[in-house]
Amino acid sequence: MLNKNEIWKLFNNKIKNEIGEEDFRLWIESIKLIESNEKEMIFGVDSDFKKEWIGTNYFDIIQRVIYEMIPQRPKIELKVIKGKGSTKDFASFVKNIKESSGDFYFNPEYTFDKLAVGNFNELAFSYAKHLSNNINDSTINPLFIYGGVGLGKTHIIQALGNHFKGRENIKVGYTTMEGFLSDWVKSINSNKITIFKEKYYNLDLLMVDDIQFISGKSGLQEQFFHLFNELYNRGKSIVLTADKPIIDMKDVEERLVSRFQSGQSIEITQPTEMDRLAIIKKRMLDYELLLDQEITNYMMEHINSNVRDVIAALKRISIREKLLKRKLHLVEVKEILKDIIQKKYINISAVMRETANFFDIRLSEITSTKRTKNVLIPRQVAMYFMKRLLKLSYPAIAGEFGGKDHTTVMNSVKKIDKMIEVDTEFKIKLQKLKSRF
Ligand code: ADP
Ligand code: MG
Repeated sequence: MLNKNEIWKLFNNKIKNEIGEEDFRLWIESIKLIESNEKEMIFGVDSDFKKEWIGTNYFDIIQRVIYEMIPQRPKIELKVIKGKGSTKDFASFVKNIKESSGDFYFNPEYTFDKLAVGNFNELAFSYAKHLSNNINDSTINPLFIYGGVGLGKTHIIQALGNHFKGRENIKVGYTTMEGFLSDWVKSINSNKITIFKEKYYNLDLLMVDDIQFISGKSGLQEQFFHLFNELYNRGKSIVLTADKPIIDMKDVEERLVSRFQSGQSIEITQPTEMDRLAIIKKRMLDYELLLDQEITNYMMEHINSNVRDVIAALKRISIREKLLKRKLHLVEVKEILKDIIQKKYINISAVMRETANFFDIRLSEITSTKRTKNVLIPRQVAMYFMKRLLKLSYPAIAGEFGGKDHTTVMNSVKKIDKMIEVDTEFKIKLQKLKSRF
């Protein structure tokens, strides 16, 4: 089981993973925890400037990471304070909360009526809606929804959970595969298997998010297989999500793969411009924004990475407008969305292509499994740029390279970080390459 230090480490690692080592050191590392209880957490920063900057650029991420760890969703506040608080307080706080939560949690913001529906997510949406009216439809059991990061998988299945909330006769559970593992380990360590069984084996509908986490973990696969069969055989419904199709998940036992494939498998794809406009219009009021057409058009055209970025952009604009107590001009919007927009210009395929060209190898070799040095280094460099420049998650990068293990990607990025640190010539070389993207 995770101890205090490990939990604190996890929090830091998650944030570091998302924003990169450099930004982490610059902005996040010095944050202190001032106040913490179930209702609120106050983080202390040491200047007004930092407060504004962190609030605008990193608040979303901090909030998301905290909420992933603490389902009670305490209110999070940044305060300018000097020298108080400690990281230890935070860790013990998280630990207490984690251990006290036996129930399932549904984010009240994730409802069906907040979802914009378009070609990209229509099927997933319809199937989830259908389940909400026909919870025992065995023809779609299990319902498997997959797609890249930030496309609304969690939102859709949590909406299904919210739909059933308060219905005494229907028990609905939601967890991530990571959370399932943590519950299981906890129950063994504290001799509370019955509580674990009570929580998971009596459900009418079980939803497990991000099941790709199961790859290569045989003990977890065994446990999950057991639960899956038990529910399935009793005609209970199961909904699963992952960041890739089932066949692309590595190191998953055949018997589980065939179970996962036995229902309906639905993809959520990248939203088109029109979809993005619909999302902006649907969600802007949630953030108390009334954006001019000039601005919505700009966002629609330029934020083409995923829905999460569209939402992050709305939040940033909203925070800034509140701070300034006025509407923003297009130039200002452009400025505060700069890093989100950049993703449009430097995309994954450009990184692959230019890196291959630069090192004089074929594009197909970069994603191959070849391990000769002339191919290995360029591949690791491409991974490095996807992490440090495009800020993709490790599993997403692994997916780009034919579903390698994400720890391979992690190690590659680390290795290139090191090489840049010790080898100036190499560093200059990569700067040259970077300018070509
Ligand atoms: P995923 O689980 O696929 O990574 P999330 O469900 O976390 O993605 O969605 C990311 C963000 O985008 C959330 O804030 C969610 O509310 C929002 N979102 C996703 N899809 C839609 C949609 N179709 N309409 C409106 N908001 C959406
Ligand atoms: Mg998700």
